[in-house]
This record gives sequence, C-alpha cells and structure tokens, in this order.
Amino acid sequence: MEAPSPDLPVIVVGAGIAGVACSRALQAADVPVRLIDRGRRLGGRMASRRLEGRPVDMGASYFTVSDPRFAAVVEDWRARGVAREWTDTFTVLEPGSAPTTKTGPMRWSSPTGLRSVVEDLAAPLEVEQAAVEQVTLAPDGTLSVDDRPASAVVLAMTDSQARTLLGAGLEADAGVLTRASEPVIATVAWWAERLWDLDGAFVNGDPDLAWIADDGARRGDGAPCLVAHSTPELAQPHLADPQQAGPPMVAALRRLLDLPEPAGTYVHRWSQARPIGEREAPFHLSEAGLGVCGDGWGPVSKVEGAWLSGTALGEAIAARHA
Ligand SMILES: Cc1cc2nc3c(=O)[nH]c(=O)nc-3n(C[C@H](O)[C@H](O)[C@H](O)COP(=O)(O)OP(=O)(O)OC[C@H]3O[C@@H](n4cnc5c(N)ncnc54)[C@H](O)[C@@H]3O)c2cc1C
Repeated sequence: MEAPSPDLPVIVVGAGIAGVACSRALQAADVPVRLIDRGRRLGGRMASRRLEGRPVDMGASYFTVSDPRFAAVVEDWRARGVAREWTDTFTVLEPGSAPTTKTGPMRWSSPTGLRSVVEDLAAPLEVEQAAVEQVTLAPDGTLSVDDRPASAVVLAMTDSQARTLLGAGLEADAGVLTRASEPVIATVAWWAERLWDLDGAFVNGDPDLAWIADDGARRGDGAPCLVAHSTPELAQPHLADPQQAGPPMVAALRRLLDLPEPAGTYVHRWSQARPIGEREAPFHLSEAGLGVCGDGWGPVSKVEGAWLSGTALGEAIAARHA
C-alpha cells in the first residue's frame, strides 16, 4: 500500500465510544481526523434520555473495566466525577424461586448518564452531524465518504450498519462484515416512591424480561425509576411497533417485584443492541485504508471492548501515517 496522503483527514463515521476512542488515538498521533455522527447527540448505544427531569440510561446499563489502559481512562473519569462506581452485586430473579444475589466485577455508571462519558472523551474533538450515505474506493485508490476524499475511512458501528454504507470498490470488505446483532426493547417505569431493594437484577427464565436496573441507585440520586430490558425473543416481533412490548414488560416487572401500576412509562427500541457470537480480531483494516471497529470486534462485546477496538484501530491507522 502507498503511504496515505498526509493532507487528507481520516474520516471516522460513528461517534459512539469506539469512533470517539479511534479519533482520540488518531488525534494523539497528530493525524488529522474528521468525526461524523448522524445523531443529534453523540454516544450511540450509551444513550440517556431526560425523563421526569433527570437523565435515564436507555442503552448500556453500566460498564466494567479490566484492561489497564481503559482503567486509566476510567480513573480519570472517576477523579473528575464523570463516572462512578455503582455496585458489584446484583439480584438474580427466577420465577418460582426465592431471589439470590451474584457478585462479580465492579459495575460503573455515571451521575449524569452514560452518554456523558462519551461526550467527555469527545470534548477535544469536533463532531459533525450528518448521516453518511456511502463510502467508495476509486480505481486510483482514493477512499471517499459521500464524495469527500479521505486518507483512510473508519466505520465505527455494527457490521450491518457498516455494510449498508459500502459502495463501489469495497465489495470485498462487505464479505468480512457478517456478524449479526440481537435486538432489545428498553422500558423505563417510575413510581412516586422506591418500593424495591435492589441495584439491578438478572432475570432468568422469564419470556419477556432479561434484566432490570434501578436507575436511581445507578445514578446515585435515589429516584424511584427502573429500566427493564426485554429478552431478544420479546423484542424481535415488536420491532415494527415497540410500544406494544411495553405492557407485557411492565406486567413482568410488577409480577417479579410485586409492584403497583407505575406512574409513567417510556419505551425505546434497540434493533441492534448487542453482537451475537464471537470474533477475536480487534478490528478490520484493509490495504486500501477502510477500517471497521466497535463492540463487534475483539473478545469483549461491551463498552470496554468498543473502546479497545476503536483505540487499536486508530493506532494502527496512525502507524501507517508515521
Ligand atoms: C439495551 C442495551 C444494553 C447494553 N448493556 C450493556 C452493559 O450493561 N454493559 C456494556 O458494557 N455494554 C452494554 N451494551 C453494549 C454497549 O452499549 C455497546 O457495546 C457500545 O456502546 C458500542 O459502542 P460502539 O461505538 O461500538 O457503537 P454505537 O454506540 O452503536 O455507535 C455507533 C454510532 O454510529 C452512528 N452511525 C451509524 N450509522 C451512521 C451513518 N450512516 N452516518 C453517521 N453516523 C452513523 C450511530 O449514530 C452511533 O452513534 C448494551 C447495549 C444496549 C443497546
């Protein structure tokens, strides 16, 4: 491969944690970078929404930390109050059995919603709001994003989102992007007072619910608000009309935690919540300079894995510019 043109920027499409981490790695190596996201706000699946006057985490529930480099980033967030330790112990609910508890790694959250940690990471970057339509590779080797030439292009998103953007000259890359994702519907429910005693609960053996988070405990403000995540089996047939999944999810919440009717609810659909299966490769990077990163790459399909994937891809592209 020829050395990339130093005058053209790397264009990173997707400002979830992977795309932001990738852009930061490029910026740290003095490689010019343009970061683009179609969302009104960045953060991707680490999304929070204001309900009842406070942010509620609608996507990722928390993150865990094992890699020392990610740990250093998280320690900086902790020191500045951007992230907080939430809990290492969750309840396990199983219909017909008494609740038990399960202790694991520390789960991290943010006092202002998980989107805040991505926004914090993106603070030194400029983010352009635009929905990218197509990436192409010309016969002379030039990569372009919607006709804007780039020295390299990064698609920091799920495989199927990335695949839809691949145009002329990039047919071979589409063959690599085969990892599917499963859907989740999130239902937020709130009451006048806190009527339960748990931080979060794994739900086993329920056809509708897989997970319940106490958003007040997670945030640290004690608000009487739960966020339930559906099973993929409930989500799949309700993707066209997710509101229909709300009532059975609230019914399951009430049944499992013996709760009265909530004061209010809000439903959000995640068509591609989490990658299915496994893939060890930390990212994709073609000879021509097309990169793909995100939680679909590397051994951990989570927030930390997405950060690691984006960082590693940014460093690999920077090494080509060196
Ligand atoms: C319901 C749910 C629960 C989860 N729970 C956890 C958890 O508890 N712990 C954990 O660690 N992880 C959890 N996750 C997973 C975690 O959210 C992801 O691993 C992580 O956020 C992925 O980041 P990413 O940057 O790879 O992708 P994303 O966050 O999906 O970012 C992709 C970005 O690309 C943008 N984009 C896509 N197409 C285009 C286009 N054409 N033009 C411009 N921009 C585009 C999108 O707007 C988006 O911002 C959960 C996810 C969901 C949905």
